[in-house]
Amino acid sequence: MSASAAQLSDLTTQGGHELHPAFSPSTCDYSCYVHFDCCEVRVCPQAPDKSMQTAVNDASCFEPVKLNAGETVVTIKVTSADGANTQVYIINVTREPVPLAVTFCDVRDQMEFECPVSLNALYKPVSIHQSEPKTIISAPYIDMLMRRSKVDPFTERPLGEAWKVLESELDQRMSNAPVQCFFSYRGCKQQMRYAEIGAHAKECHYKPSSDLDSVDITETNWYRKYFASLHNLEIITDHTLEIRNWEKRLQTAFGEHDVDSLIANAEQHFRLYKKRLPNPGDMMQYDPGQSPLDDLEQAAIHYATAIKVKPHNAKLHFLLGQTLEEQYYATEMYGLKKEAQEDDQDLGQAKSAGRQEEILAICRLHGFPGTPTTENQLQALDMEIQDLKQQSQSAKADYVQTLFLWLSKKAGKVTTSNTQDGSSVVSDEKCWLYRALLKYLDACSLNADSWEYNLHVGRLLLLQGKSNEALKHLQTALSLQPCQPAIRFYTGLALLQQKEAAAASEREVELFLTQGLENVMGQFFVSHDHKEREQWDTGYDWSVVNAQFLRGCLSLAALLSKNSPSDQALSPEQVYHIVSGLAAQGISRCVNAGEVLQQLEWVLLDAHFSLLQGLILQERNSKQPWIVKRCQALTSLIRLSSIGPCRELLDLQEKVCQMGVLAVPRCSRALCLLGLAQLDQSDSHAAAERGQAALANACLSFRASIELEGSHQTGEPPEQLTKQAWWKDHLDAENNKKVKHEAPEPKPAVESPEGSADGKKLVRGRGAPARGVTTSTAKTSAPTRVNRTATAAKHTPQAAQGRTGRHLVAKSDGAGKTAGKSSIKAQTSPCKSRQEHSPLQDKPVTSAVEVGKQDNDSTVSTALNEKSYLPRLGLARALARNADSQKQACHFYREVIDVAPEVHDAYIELANLLLKDDPLAAVDVYSRFPLKPVCEQTFDDAFITGEIVHILMKHELYEHPQLLPNLIAHGKVMGLALEGKFMTSLLRRVYAGIHDKSVDNEELQDFFRFKCWI
Ligand SMILES: [Zn+2]
Repeated sequence: MSASAAQLSDLTTQGGHELHPAFSPSTCDYSCYVHFDCCEVRVCPQAPDKSMQTAVNDASCFEPVKLNAGETVVTIKVTSADGANTQVYIINVTREPVPLAVTFCDVRDQMEFECPVSLNALYKPVSIHQSEPKTIISAPYIDMLMRRSKVDPFTERPLGEAWKVLESELDQRMSNAPVQCFFSYRGCKQQMRYAEIGAHAKECHYKPSSDLDSVDITETNWYRKYFASLHNLEIITDHTLEIRNWEKRLQTAFGEHDVDSLIANAEQHFRLYKKRLPNPGDMMQYDPGQSPLDDLEQAAIHYATAIKVKPHNAKLHFLLGQTLEEQYYATEMYGLKKEAQEDDQDLGQAKSAGRQEEILAICRLHGFPGTPTTENQLQALDMEIQDLKQQSQSAKADYVQTLFLWLSKKAGKVTTSNTQDGSSVVSDEKCWLYRALLKYLDACSLNADSWEYNLHVGRLLLLQGKSNEALKHLQTALSLQPCQPAIRFYTGLALLQQKEAAAASEREVELFLTQGLENVMGQFFVSHDHKEREQWDTGYDWSVVNAQFLRGCLSLAALLSKNSPSDQALSPEQVYHIVSGLAAQGISRCVNAGEVLQQLEWVLLDAHFSLLQGLILQERNSKQPWIVKRCQALTSLIRLSSIGPCRELLDLQEKVCQMGVLAVPRCSRALCLLGLAQLDQSDSHAAAERGQAALANACLSFRASIELEGSHQTGEPPEQLTKQAWWKDHLDAENNKKVKHEAPEPKPAVESPEGSADGKKLVRGRGAPARGVTTSTAKTSAPTRVNRTATAAKHTPQAAQGRTGRHLVAKSDGAGKTAGKSSIKAQTSPCKSRQEHSPLQDKPVTSAVEVGKQDNDSTVSTALNEKSYLPRLGLARALARNADSQKQACHFYREVIDVAPEVHDAYIELANLLLKDDPLAAVDVYSRFPLKPVCEQTFDDAFITGEIVHILMKHELYEHPQLLPNLIAHGKVMGLALEGKFMTSLLRRVYAGIHDKSVDNEELQDFFRFKCWI
């Protein structure tokens, strides 16, 4: 060993945390993953020679390194024996995230460290380079948002190179901030550093016990009635045990008659499937027969074959059911759909994209521009069908009819409240979940005394909306196993969905749902051995991708806020935070934009919205920036969600944007977002009066947003805002509230011309400021927009009742539709289950973070409005909708190009406006785009070059100076696909340009001759 050598001979950690890659003296960078309850790591470097010096994080003694909540960099320095050389090794230690929402002791920490997506503490915080105000998001969620579009989720600005900035300093500060125990509501008074909460929770004495008391069950009325004496509950489930056709197709495992080996084979395939599942970001390309779904199908085949051998073995039916349920999640979450073999309605992706294109074309034809809502798409198709029928084009009409059916079937997943009966076209037996239910029912009919079979039957029946039957199965399960938390939780859900007696059993519901959630909370902090953990991971009772479970928790939160719980209960706010955190985790696990993802997105949006409402109700000035932040985050989530534009989503978006503007009326960004929401609304009501009003409002909001750039956020609301109807309505509602609050002293009424016209108005208006008098009464008689604004709905009991009523109607509609052969698919649709929750949602949420911090009014006033291209783009789009304001639109498109020259859309939309009258002006616009060198151009860039080429060639302007360079650029990115017909000399120059050769090149000359270009 030379005295100048400076390399380690080994590097390990105490506790055996594995290094990646495995240690080798010449490799200097390692990563290491540890459990969330691991607070410190002791690194043990070994030098080959005792006279060599080693140091960990610059300390010579090897103290354990305290870990941050997210990532911690450990540096190990080794110095050669002669002191001449040193070598640094780095271990990047990553802790898995704490699975539950934490509460910081200081409300300012809570606000600063809140991840805008999960509304939980940031995890591995990352900021976007040059974002203003600075956008900081947890690393896993920023990747999730970027999956859909490569823009800053908050400013929608295209991202430059190296946009991701690690915020290690923030991570460290956050790790040291004091937090409360998760179980403080149960009496734990301990406070600790955020980095230590995982370890504390494992040891905390206040952790909910997993031993539940069977008295909770045996004392209930229904137990006394049905089970205490008879131990029997008559279940009328219309079900016969039979082998269905799709099962017969599965019974193909080759040459096996031994049930045990069939089961062993099935289990083996199931394990293989789990192992092969893709992670988010993985490429999903598998060779034929090698996809995880193939393994899963093999598992199903082996169980099905085993059933053929022993048809009366209940367990086999149950295991097949579980496999089928897994197939549902696999296809939805990972997009592992096999090419349709038995399902001819299931189109390939390309074909379905083609159909969507056709539908959008028809929409444009009937006056729905952009991406209209599903309702409008269906409307346009319907109009087209009628038109075609009138023109006696029955073949075409039939084709459009198939588009209509296809879309409404697809829409059944997105929205059920407004779609036509087409959604009931969904054929049940093709849905994996429905098949799973059938198998659970089979198992149950063979062995009615299994709590497990009853639980799963009940759970899936609930999804079908058959809450009566579901309840009976779940109660039977409870009578067999009274302390099983999952049965309790789903029984709670079933009770909640009972049409009658829901109010009477509310306390029971609250107890069961709480016990279920607490069980989950406790399980996170139990030291599982590996096998137990695996068991915990299978099954969907408590899975973060099971929207039914998460919706149940939302219902619990709504119940808790309604009943203002005792001190020893979970606060609704904590539950909402837990749900938003779990839903965000679930969403980030979905590789594919399917039904599961959409349901989880709805859960996340709902949790966000409830928390936002709670924050607003606190009415503290210091909360305003927080409200604005949450509004903007929620708006971005809505805009980036994979849920197709449906009315419910557009209404939510508008409502949230209004809340943002109400919080800080002079915030430029908030106004711009409101404008975007109003523009979306106007697109979905394009022809109607409401659409025109929304368009006018959108223009006002954008103009206000632009005008306020560079000015402070304090002061009077901008004039363009006070002109809008919803703003006036809000003021009226506020005034109304004041009138009610300040007990009206009988004062002589102010004589005003409006007031005297109607005696009733006079009475109502007494004691109120004159302005409030007239307007408020006028509005109550005209139920126009009032119901739509969140604040109004919150404060007017009628409006709230109206909502509840509407939901009940929607609910019974759904039940009617599915009365015969019930459709799980329709019932699992996100909107449906959402509505069951929302009647309770308007109740205020009180904050747990309310810890008497001093309000600081000055936070808002210092903020300056930044200049942005977004309101200009929005305004340009709004103005372009009407023929007579298109000139103005062009002006604002040009401003967008000045402010943000890299935004493709502005060029494209402006050029499209100019194209008809002045194609060369359009070419000029495109030509201004700052194209990068050809080798760095993207497909978006190629669109621009392609358009230039297209316009010039269409007008046969072959000598235009822009044609040649753009043809070459376009050809390089997209490949050359030109047909003859135009000048061959141009073609020669293009071809030569693409291949970086001179036109005179000999090889090329030969080629040109061959092509007859010479
Ligand atoms: Zn504790």
